[in-house]
Amino acid sequence: MMRVLVVEDEHHLAEGLRFNIEAEGFEVSVRETGEEALADFAAGERYDLLVLDVMLPGIDGFEVIRSLREQRHFLPTLMLTARGRAEDVVKGIAAGADDYLAKPFDLGVLIARIKGLLRRREWIGESAGEPEMRVEINGRTIDFKSLSIEWEGEKQPLTLMEANFLKYLVDHEGEAVSRADLLDKVWQVHGDTDTRAIDNFVVRLRKYIETDPAQPRCLLTVRGVGYRLERG
Ligand code: CA
Repeated sequence: MMRVLVVEDEHHLAEGLRFNIEAEGFEVSVRETGEEALADFAAGERYDLLVLDVMLPGIDGFEVIRSLREQRHFLPTLMLTARGRAEDVVKGIAAGADDYLAKPFDLGVLIARIKGLLRRREWIGESAGEPEMRVEINGRTIDFKSLSIEWEGEKQPLTLMEANFLKYLVDHEGEAVSRADLLDKVWQVHGDTDTRAIDNFVVRLRKYIETDPAQPRCLLTVRGVGYRLERG
């Protein structure tokens, strides 16, 4: 059974989430603070998906996801943000979240998002065998099936969004791709949004694919536009 961790301090909402997610056949654990959630992972608990509120009593949701990603936990993560806080979406993306939902939300929509995240992960897995599911960049092999990047015998997992981001650039190799386009196509964030989150994201990816991340040769900045991928 798929295991979902819900991190939400509002008791009624947390129990509503538990009830509805369980009704879809998932096993659900609820934690009220980020600290408790991180302690779970530190104790070796494994979950298939994380539903993470931004506003929590101790460390906030951004801190939780940043910390999990740093500790190389790559589970798909849906962040619950406050309505109208576009900057929360951008901060969530920068911290490593995969999707977001503004409060208050319809529980049916939440379930659809959860299934969507799991389906996107499966879709990437099922597309295996197509030659473009493994690509070489600068001597690194990116495997879109297992969501990983491998070089010099070292295998580094990628988050769903890191993989989607690289896939989009690979599909548009040699073209300048705008930040707004990346937000739109990779994260489905539409409209007027601060695009700086993308830059933090790229800093992280350059550590994986560049020989010298300070002197990028593959994931290039195109001044005033966005980014361009050149396979080394
Ligand atoms: Ca809250």
